[in-house]
Amino acid sequence: MSIELTSRYLMTIDGQPTDSDRHLGVINPANEQVIALVPDASREQLDAAVAAARRAFPAWSAMPVAERQALVADIGQKLLEQLEGFAQLLTREQGKTLDYARFEVGAAAAWFSEFAKMAPTETIIEDSPEHLVKVRRVPIGVVGAIVPWNFPVLLAVWKLAPALVAGNTVVLKPSPFTPLTALKLTELINTLLPPGVVNVVSGGDDLGPWLTAHPQIDKVSFTGSTATGRRVMESGARNLKRLTLELGGNDAAIVLPDVDIAQTAEKLFWGAFSNSGQFCLAIKRLYIHQDIYEPLSQAIVEYARNVSVGDGSLPGTGLGPVQNAVQFERLKALLADIREQDQRVLLGGNLAQGPGYCFPVTIVDNPPDDSRIVTEEPFGPILPLLKFCDIDEVIARANDSEYGLGGSVWSKDVELATAIAQRLQTGKVWINEIHELNPYTPLGGHKQSGIGVENGIDGLMEYTNAQTLSIRRQ
Ligand code: NAD
Repeated sequence: MSIELTSRYLMTIDGQPTDSDRHLGVINPANEQVIALVPDASREQLDAAVAAARRAFPAWSAMPVAERQALVADIGQKLLEQLEGFAQLLTREQGKTLDYARFEVGAAAAWFSEFAKMAPTETIIEDSPEHLVKVRRVPIGVVGAIVPWNFPVLLAVWKLAPALVAGNTVVLKPSPFTPLTALKLTELINTLLPPGVVNVVSGGDDLGPWLTAHPQIDKVSFTGSTATGRRVMESGARNLKRLTLELGGNDAAIVLPDVDIAQTAEKLFWGAFSNSGQFCLAIKRLYIHQDIYEPLSQAIVEYARNVSVGDGSLPGTGLGPVQNAVQFERLKALLADIREQDQRVLLGGNLAQGPGYCFPVTIVDNPPDDSRIVTEEPFGPILPLLKFCDIDEVIARANDSEYGLGGSVWSKDVELATAIAQRLQTGKVWINEIHELNPYTPLGGHKQSGIGVENGIDGLMEYTNAQTLSIRRQ
């Protein structure tokens, strides 16, 4: 299979390319052109995908784990061979720069390869001549995997790889804004796996709720906003679905006065603006010690001036457009609020005319803690800089959020930074680095940023149920 930018995009149900009577347009956010039509799945087609996954489950789950691991490794290898085609498609549907798209697809391939080295653990609790007690981990069944539009390939693979290694079958549902790479990825997977093990359905706003309410789906792994996560949980309650929810964040970075200004400014910039700020783990509140507030904010603004925002497929573009019109309008509303509240904008804030959802890098100077840009997750390239003078005070401000996804602390005093990091109520904290993620470390939100984790053995275990075997030997 090769990725042709003009190819048809079909669902895969029970190993078969599947069209629908209705279609949805997919827009390139750099120019608002419709680049493809995708099937808009009917409820019956979702039922067919779930039924196929159920039929495939007994054989797939009974396959020795080493064989499943080998197949998952093969998927990673094949994806790597197709990296360039996938990256180009990803840029066209998502908007991110081509380099960043290559990075995402490369990471997705690596995730398949590394998950192929992991297996659910079996624990012996007691092993005596009379009694053997052990805890096995068994696959759950059919997994519904729901993915957002910011990292459509990588976040799908974070679900597919562990679900498959653990012995589950999957119905994947991409975001209606970015379905193309997911449809092609599932096509690729189906050249290697038995029919029905991985199915993909594309569709509009009804499809997610149908999936989370489906009585034949045993687990939902969802990545998206906290508001939608609550609905997923409510809907999953009907048949007590297992849930993993990876939700929103409003991550704080805390910068102490001893940092190297120039080096840290560059890292903080990318920590906030990578993927045009559409990153659950982006720095969304940047707390700078008052002693270096002026020089560090200036250094960030100067760095930002040299990063161009535009069409991600063109060389020289540093940041692509925002992914969709809804998000673009939401950012415009936040900007209007910043203006209404007379908050000082250090950079950006002026939108260019013309097609496409390009939003300028916008940096806001020390807005009040209760302003919308501080309390809400913008999920785009607007960053508030916030001044602090005392460590207890800044920790309290950083923790004053319903979210608890990630955070970072920056200082030459690693001991002090570690002490601060340990007081942050988040699932991930980096010290003097950011966005170092790997397949072996669990990632999950505290508070309303989620339930459960993805990645690592802990993430793999979320695709299993515990079964305790208690055996009286004599
Ligand atoms: P979203 O919640 O609007 O949509 C996510 C997915 O859910 C999409 O596929 C969508 O079609 C589907 N969906 C929408 N309504 C649904 C419903 N009622 N039932 C079931 N499915 C439904 O989120 P988004 O705008 O696509 O993504 C942005 C959000 O995702 C941000 O809040 C971001 O922080 C979060 N996010 C979190 C992580 C993480 O790992 N914690 C990673 C990436 C993004």
